[in-house]
Amino acid sequence: MPSHCRTSLNGRRTNLRALTGQRSYDHRPSGRLAYDEAVAVPKVLLFYAFAPLPDPEAVRLWQRELCERLNLRGRILLSPHGINGTLGGELGSLKRYVRVTKEYAAFRELDVKWSGGSGLNPDNSSVDFPRLTVKVRDEIVSFGAPDELRVDDRGVVGGGSRLDPRALHALAAERDDLVFFDGRNRFEAEIGRFKDAVVPDVANTREFVEALDSGVYDHLKDRPVVTYCTGGIRCEVLSSLMLSRGFQAVYQLDGGIVRYGEAFGDDGLWEGSLYVFDGRGSMTFSDHAAVLGRCEGCGSPTSRMRNCTDLSCREQLVVCEDCGQRSCASHAA
Ligand SMILES: [Zn+2]
Ligand SMILES: [Zn+2]
Repeated sequence: MPSHCRTSLNGRRTNLRALTGQRSYDHRPSGRLAYDEAVAVPKVLLFYAFAPLPDPEAVRLWQRELCERLNLRGRILLSPHGINGTLGGELGSLKRYVRVTKEYAAFRELDVKWSGGSGLNPDNSSVDFPRLTVKVRDEIVSFGAPDELRVDDRGVVGGGSRLDPRALHALAAERDDLVFFDGRNRFEAEIGRFKDAVVPDVANTREFVEALDSGVYDHLKDRPVVTYCTGGIRCEVLSSLMLSRGFQAVYQLDGGIVRYGEAFGDDGLWEGSLYVFDGRGSMTFSDHAAVLGRCEGCGSPTSRMRNCTDLSCREQLVVCEDCGQRSCASHAA
């Protein structure tokens, strides 16, 4: 794992070192300027809020203008149910983005997670995202069930009980029949997942409804189930879909794997690397993360993920440095 793929904790540590180094040898008055330049820190934000938006298009125009002004890149989705985004850029600009966005009443409870970025271009734009897109869709997470989701000013109606990382450990200690249910795409779990998790065979989020309705998970309906995903947003919807389909005790990991990793790193129930949908590819929470992935080409252990060689294909494959890039089953020559 390259060091730049570590979490915010490591990013902060690196930053502190740069900061003290600068101070130790630069005593001129102009040193203040050099110090400011030294702390242009690349960061990546993950955020969402479920809240009724009467006019998503107006919010889109405002958000687009705000991001352009602050030189932020990434992807923001808006719907009548809220906002879902990931943005990369300079720390100060991202802080300003969060402050301004939270001033809008519907986004006051915006859930925000920080992690370290790979770097900044000379104009301070993020190297982790090629561009900025801000779109209005039917759903901010694509389950293909916009009519089933109900949202009020307190968020999703009828979702699973929230567990913070500590509460998750308490529940796991109390219930040995607890089931971890991965709320992500199958390929994401290949390089990291919770211990003994059930990983549904879904290529994308749209396939969850069909998987649940097929009955293959009916045997879990009487057991306590904890859903988890990257930052928690997919579980807000998934847990509500499970409860409405007769699952008796559904919990959701609040803040997702990202917040769990900040609390327990690789010394708890999480194993491996976290797949992320930006230029970083994946991230780890410590220097002793397990390597769960096996290269599609040669079978050697790796956490490296690459797109299928077919440019139209969105399949991600575990493939080592030596094997370079591979084709998925449907695009193999
Ligand atoms: Zn290989
Ligand atoms: Zn393919």
